[in-house]
Amino acid sequence: MSKPSKSEPAKSFGRKSITATLKPRDLMAEIPHLKGAWVAKVITLFPEVFPGVLGASLTGKALKEGLWQLQTIDLRPFGEGRHRNVDDTPAGGGAGMVLRADVVDKALQKAQQGTPTDRTKWPVIYLSPRGRPLTQAMAQRFAQADGITLLCGRFEGIDERIIEEYAIEEVSLGDFVLTGGEIAAQALIDATVRLIPRVLGNQASTEEESFSDGLLEHPQYTKPSVWKGRAIPEILLSGHHAKISDWRKAMAERLTKERRPDLWRAYCAKHDRDPEEDQEL
Ligand code: SAH
Repeated sequence: MSKPSKSEPAKSFGRKSITATLKPRDLMAEIPHLKGAWVAKVITLFPEVFPGVLGASLTGKALKEGLWQLQTIDLRPFGEGRHRNVDDTPAGGGAGMVLRADVVDKALQKAQQGTPTDRTKWPVIYLSPRGRPLTQAMAQRFAQADGITLLCGRFEGIDERIIEEYAIEEVSLGDFVLTGGEIAAQALIDATVRLIPRVLGNQASTEEESFSDGLLEHPQYTKPSVWKGRAIPEILLSGHHAKISDWRKAMAERLTKERRPDLWRAYCAKHDRDPEEDQEL
């Protein structure tokens, strides 16, 4: 619920050189746009939770290197009155609070500064359980854009009129309800950023992994070759690349058929296969 806030509207820190010594949070200040960098603008009541997990490992390294940029837009300073209220009770009654359209509007206006209005170049998304579930294909589409604006809801969500006015796309992390959009936003950014060229060291890995070909990935193994009496499937140690590749494909198909009949049917339709056919291994 609305609390008084110490925070002021985000200040510009002017031109800052990006060095590897900056901490992940320093990288989110209003920095000049780095040429070619993919940008995520995130409207949130909790800017302090960013970059969060995105500051670690490969996404964190890529953030430091300027392959992508993150700008959080604190919703609080756009709130109404002395207490900077951002929410109010739902019209028609009921539990909880709803984020006000006029307040969210100001934050969206701010996010729009310097971004293309063409939504294919710059998708504007509200993270919401009512949205279309996030898929690898969506992440690929977002990675093709120049950047993205993400609106994180809290409480009971946001006033519907904002979604209509801005023709906002709703994206869900899955069929469950989170407390806020921030975790979903970080998941969406992570899935997208790893598809940006040079973010993952080994480009081939995004082409072979789950969903890329409409299949779940085959099982993976590494040393030791025998562990607790369990041996790595012999074929993987055979050095026979064609056979290994066939085995992996067959395993991926079997797993997909067993676990995700929805994906399996789509895959079979695409490859002109009978979804009921027996898998031989
Ligand atoms: N009353 C809403 C849920 C609000 S949850 C409803 O029943 O649909 C509060 C906020 O968390 C939402 O505004 C949304 O931004 C975020 N959120 C919750 N579940 C989510 C999910 N599955 N995917 C993406 N965002 C989610």
